[in-house]
Amino acid sequence: MRLVVVGGVAGGMSAAARARRLSEDTEIIVLESRGEVSFANCGLPYFVGGEIEDKEQLLVQTPAGLSASLGLDVRINTDVVAIDTERRVITLSDSDGTSELSYDELILSPGASAIRPPIPGLDSPRVHTLRTVPDAVGLKAALEGARSAVVMGAGFIGLEAAEAMEMQGLRTSVVELAPHVLPPLETEMAQLLRDELVRLGIAIHDGVSATAVEQGEDHDVVVLSDGTRLDADIIVLSVGVRPDTRVWEEAGVTCDRGAILIDELGHTAVEHVWAVGDATASADLVTGARRPVALAGPANRAGRLVADAIMGKRGHVLPGLAGTAIVRVGELTAALTGANRRSLDEAGMKYHTIHLHPLHHAGYFPGATQIHLMMHFGTDGKVLGAQAVGNDGVDKRIDVLAVAIKAGFTVHDLMDLDLAYSPPYGSAKDPVNMAGMMGCNVLDGTLKLWHAEDVEAVMASSLVLDVRSAAEVADGHLAGSLNVPHVELRDRMEEVRAAANGRPVSVLCASGVRSYLALRQLDHAGLQARNLSGGMLTLQAALGGRANNVIITG
Ligand SMILES: Cc1cc2nc3c(=O)[nH]c(=O)nc-3n(C[C@H](O)[C@H](O)[C@H](O)COP(=O)(O)OP(=O)(O)OC[C@H]3O[C@@H](n4cnc5c(N)ncnc54)[C@H](O)[C@@H]3O)c2cc1C
Repeated sequence: MRLVVVGGVAGGMSAAARARRLSEDTEIIVLESRGEVSFANCGLPYFVGGEIEDKEQLLVQTPAGLSASLGLDVRINTDVVAIDTERRVITLSDSDGTSELSYDELILSPGASAIRPPIPGLDSPRVHTLRTVPDAVGLKAALEGARSAVVMGAGFIGLEAAEAMEMQGLRTSVVELAPHVLPPLETEMAQLLRDELVRLGIAIHDGVSATAVEQGEDHDVVVLSDGTRLDADIIVLSVGVRPDTRVWEEAGVTCDRGAILIDELGHTAVEHVWAVGDATASADLVTGARRPVALAGPANRAGRLVADAIMGKRGHVLPGLAGTAIVRVGELTAALTGANRRSLDEAGMKYHTIHLHPLHHAGYFPGATQIHLMMHFGTDGKVLGAQAVGNDGVDKRIDVLAVAIKAGFTVHDLMDLDLAYSPPYGSAKDPVNMAGMMGCNVLDGTLKLWHAEDVEAVMASSLVLDVRSAAEVADGHLAGSLNVPHVELRDRMEEVRAAANGRPVSVLCASGVRSYLALRQLDHAGLQARNLSGGMLTLQAALGGRANNVIITG
């Protein structure tokens, strides 16, 4: 059998290597249009930023190495330009011109290409993308003598690129069309990252678009839709990727909005043609929606699975994806798994949302820092999505929650999870257990919540009871709120009842913990009460600049 693989990086090379491990007889040919295979695209920003010093460290494998160790016929600088699926023949283009190559089975793992929006001036030589090793080498060379950089797009790669520019000492600005950086994050999480970027000295222009690049002798100017003009010696274009599937569509491979449609084994609509990775549409594990997921883990695993299917090992199918992802920004880590509000709303799913700010390990052990954690779960308690931002311990919590989503766990299961603990690593009640406990309290009515985005309506229709200390309240509180520190509440309950005058009581504190204690007292006293999810910390992050409309100091 001859197996031909198009694309020699994550998904493609994973498929080719697995196919070899399962069959010594198969002729395996990998065709890669670029000059490298098996390179670490995920490491490119860290090479530009200087943390990975040597370009060679990015080259995980070479064609010669793959030939020696796996007997793969790897052909670089070879572009597949057409497929004749009737004859099972592909057309190649390389330095010798075009030629044909037959296949028995064909795996497509062509990845995605950078979106280039129709912005005048984007053809400037100062505009760079960051997709390949030559891109990274070119960008690093351009740092010589550069003083300023503009990164267009604040997705995962855009933020990594911005951090790299900042690390290299450039005055760095980020432009993002969406209302906030890292659009898959919820607003209240993204604000924390924004604050960190600003702390690093990176200027953030969110909610605006780049409308033109004016090319100059000495430097370019990026013009924004709000009239801002940003000088740029370097412009990094990182506004997203799109599966580049024209060649395959012409061959009759079915695509939806550019992504190749595959079945649960990775087979396309065309016999003997398979596809994996960024170019394909995956099923969302939570909502079932089909969408491309441009992440390395899913591409690698799908490559392995498709090779299994081709070699007759068909016990396993492609899973739905939770889209678990993580990024470092300065001293913070942000990570997410599963659905966010937008995807849940689009799917018409009903859900609860909770916010908590536990310490990443025991508070009495030196170095404890807060994890800002939020979680969506269904009305049946099933965990649907989670996001976290913090200095430490974010990766572990989101990975546990990713497993929970995959396993179909409910908040009750989270409460029961038996997680490793000693003071330097966690708490006897881990943040994940606490999220489960909160979720259970919400489901059984022990904890009723109100949310930051409803603040104006809440202020208009209820008594806002602030149970923080007087000093905290003086630093900023909701206009018209009543301050009764939670330790005084039992003695001042009648004062609260009188102030509420029949209205519900909307309690808040800094993080939601003290106000929960207050809520239980109010509940026992027969008052109708609800607790601000995540407290003032979440409210300020969720409202951003809008917070000034409702928060007063003094
Ligand atoms: C800068 C950067 C940082 C990233 N960081 C992370 C991260 O931290 N975590 C994470 O999970 N993911 C990350 N990713 C995404 C991850 O790298 C991709 O999801 C993954 O590589 C996709 O694998 P793939 O096989 O589908 O495509 P790729 O790995 O992109 O490989 C596709 C290959 O196919 C080749 N090709 C395309 N068309 C043809 C053709 N017609 N003929 C021959 N060859 C062709 C291309 O040249 C390309 O080399 C990052 C990506 C980039 C660019």
